[in-house]
Amino acid sequence: MTEVFKGNFTQQEPIPDEGIEAAMSVLRSGRLHRYNLVGEEPGEVALLEREFAEYTGARYALAVASGGYAMATALRALGVGPGDRVLTNAFTLAPVPGSIASVGAVPVFVGVTEALTIDLDDLAAKTQEADVLMLSHMRGHLADMNRLMEICDAGGVTVVEDCAHTMGAAWRGVPSGRWGRVGCYSTQTYKHMNSGEGGFLVTDDDEVMARAIMLSGSYMLYGRHGTVPPDEVFERVKYDTPNVSGRMDHLRAALLRPQLRALEGQVEKWNARYRVVEEGLRGTPGLTLPERGEQESYVGSSIQFLLLDWDGARIGEVLKRCVARGVELKWFGAAEPAGFTSRYDSWRYAPSAPMPASDRILRGIVDMRLPLTFSLEDCAQIARIIRAEVGAVYQAAS
Ligand SMILES: *Cc1c(COP(=O)(O)O)cnc(C)c1O
Repeated sequence: MTEVFKGNFTQQEPIPDEGIEAAMSVLRSGRLHRYNLVGEEPGEVALLEREFAEYTGARYALAVASGGYAMATALRALGVGPGDRVLTNAFTLAPVPGSIASVGAVPVFVGVTEALTIDLDDLAAKTQEADVLMLSHMRGHLADMNRLMEICDAGGVTVVEDCAHTMGAAWRGVPSGRWGRVGCYSTQTYKHMNSGEGGFLVTDDDEVMARAIMLSGSYMLYGRHGTVPPDEVFERVKYDTPNVSGRMDHLRAALLRPQLRALEGQVEKWNARYRVVEEGLRGTPGLTLPERGEQESYVGSSIQFLLLDWDGARIGEVLKRCVARGVELKWFGAAEPAGFTSRYDSWRYAPSAPMPASDRILRGIVDMRLPLTFSLEDCAQIARIIRAEVGAVYQAAS
């Protein structure tokens, strides 16, 4: 009998009991808004900001309504505006070019390598075209950050990091989000901490944080934040920074604080699962696993492989056969995006020249989520199924 996997690829773990209890007490208080505080109580949001700043080693952290909001706010705080060009990855997720478009700026796409990281040669060739790089560590793959920063520093390009898939990851021991001027994170359900929706922005820069706090909708209550730049910085920016409300509330912060304390352990669980699938797939004919940099500590909350130079019909056949056996794969390279978009040519509001070398890679990217509700045995079974079905389709064609 052929085995069939019975798990659910979109089922995350429950919120920890500690988070549920903290959330209940916020609900009982009726004080959900971050500035609805009694006396000197700091409130869940400010406490979370302090804890997240400490976790990342950043001077400042701001908790906000989503990862996409954090990215748009970072761009606004840096002064990016209508008509400005912003470099970004050709392989990323829709909210990334969306954050650029939301401030009226124009994405300029940079290619992708077989390691699924930004193509640093292409980046070096394009630094004259923009002052800011919105760098997406898409699906948790970190480029050589030392070289990337050298290129950007030499080209006068300010880096904003999209760490939606790298919360808990690092390059050479320096956390992702701490290489660029600003780091942005998401706490949407499918990321590494789950508050339904939510996000963070971290930076060491006084003025960027003061502007970001004003932008997030602080009604001049910025003194109540968890990590606050000096007063004189606010004096400089507070009258000319618009309010674009996108605050986090106490309820979400209450859910997140215990998850932040547990994050390190969660990362280990993800990586144990990742390694089982990776080992199970290694050496499958026709299938390429992206190489990981030696300096990279990653979070294996999803796994990717490449079916390089396969024609579309055969990739479709692999997906169909896998889903019939309970294994849901996403083909990021499909011509018509379904349920997500991850290719630069899907974003038609941002016209681009064709990128043949990247197109070849993008066409072959297959992705799978690894929720922590899967056991290590589940992961081994999933790998056996993919290996068998990729192998069957590959052999039939050769
Ligand atoms: C999820 C995601 C975001 C944005 O997160 P939201 O909180 O959903 O706005 C940004 N970048 C990538 C690569 C993502 O996957």
